[in-house]
Amino acid sequence: MQSPGDTYGAIDGGLNRVGQLLAVFILLTSSAYARTDVSPCYAGFEISSACITERGLDQKVAAYRRNITQAMSRLGASYKMDLRVVNNPVEAGYSDVGDVFTDVVRNDEMRNQSFIINVTADFLEKQPEILFEASSLHEVCHVMNDDLTGYHRNAANVEAAEEHCVLQVVGESRYEQYLSTYASYRHWDPLTYTNYLQQVKNVSLVPAPGERDEADRLAIEYFKTHADGNEHLLVYNGELHDVTLYSTRNKVLHDPAKVGAIIKDGKPMIFFHNHPSEEGRAAMFPSYDDYGAAALFSFMTYARDPSLAVEFRVIQLGTKDTIVSYGFRGTAMDEIQQMASEYRKALALRIDVAGIEARQQNLDYQLAQESFNDYLRYACPVDLTRKDAEVCRTHPQYFLWPSDKFFLHYRPQ
Ligand SMILES: [Zn+2]
Ligand SMILES: [Zn+2]
Repeated sequence: MQSPGDTYGAIDGGLNRVGQLLAVFILLTSSAYARTDVSPCYAGFEISSACITERGLDQKVAAYRRNITQAMSRLGASYKMDLRVVNNPVEAGYSDVGDVFTDVVRNDEMRNQSFIINVTADFLEKQPEILFEASSLHEVCHVMNDDLTGYHRNAANVEAAEEHCVLQVVGESRYEQYLSTYASYRHWDPLTYTNYLQQVKNVSLVPAPGERDEADRLAIEYFKTHADGNEHLLVYNGELHDVTLYSTRNKVLHDPAKVGAIIKDGKPMIFFHNHPSEEGRAAMFPSYDDYGAAALFSFMTYARDPSLAVEFRVIQLGTKDTIVSYGFRGTAMDEIQQMASEYRKALALRIDVAGIEARQQNLDYQLAQESFNDYLRYACPVDLTRKDAEVCRTHPQYFLWPSDKFFLHYRPQ
């Protein structure tokens, strides 16, 4: 019997030692024995798409993919998650993994950027589709709860924490169907089932570490005490300034004189603005225009001083206040800095800057367009098969999309 804590395959959690030795032993003997007559489609780690077809797994693979997409939508998450069908994880050097397990792809700053769900062909062939549904929810919960290689937010309780996340989203009766199917897949006895179910129900998830700072607190307080139903643009540079010139419910124009004076002060700045709270999750995300404005204010800042820090945050007030920071990195940042540097040099030489300003406006437009294409369509994917196609299900806390130009980051309380 497996230990009850071992679910589909934690990335590094799992099998007890005896089970592990036994698995390795069987694997060695069977591969030595079968070496001569194993078809290439049954050997090695990753299975090619030709082999998936040859083994008659196309529909199963499509079904698993569909379950990953549905799992993210149900959980309010949006990540770049690829599916990799594999023969034997041990062939690629994995130990202690089950039939379904997730790899993390990190960017050059070692931050999580995308994920690969590995599923064994054996699991696809033999297990019922209800376990595709249960396991893909479980794997997405690994990402949401930050229970991945290198960092386990829920520490010793990782697998039960993921199951708790699944239980919360599907409800008790569906969850018990998952778990009883899982119990027969793992050959659990009834007592193991009952104990595990209780363990899952008892979990209380560890919240994400807080990231809010003094500026966030002051901005929230300001928006709460100036709740006139309109947007405001604020800048924090040690003190909070309202730099709104004119605004409506969902549009704000900045006061160029006030912004110019604050930039001239030369202190690190955080720009804040608010989005209407009644517009749901879509309004938690920065819009197309917000990226355009960030490009302009970044340019104005770097034209003054290329090393001055500037940040952008959008706030949505509600029962739980949401704060998302967003902006540029990588090549987009380089382009803005380059333009700012040309502008600075032209001013010093007293050359006309009209041409640079026109190119800079073009750049703002282009960056807004690209960030929209890169981010926002993944943040709130429109599902045209639904009646409520416009509804955004993704919570920014559970959104991550790889980009070398833009970022969007939820700031937990
Ligand atoms: Zn797991
Ligand atoms: Zn906005």
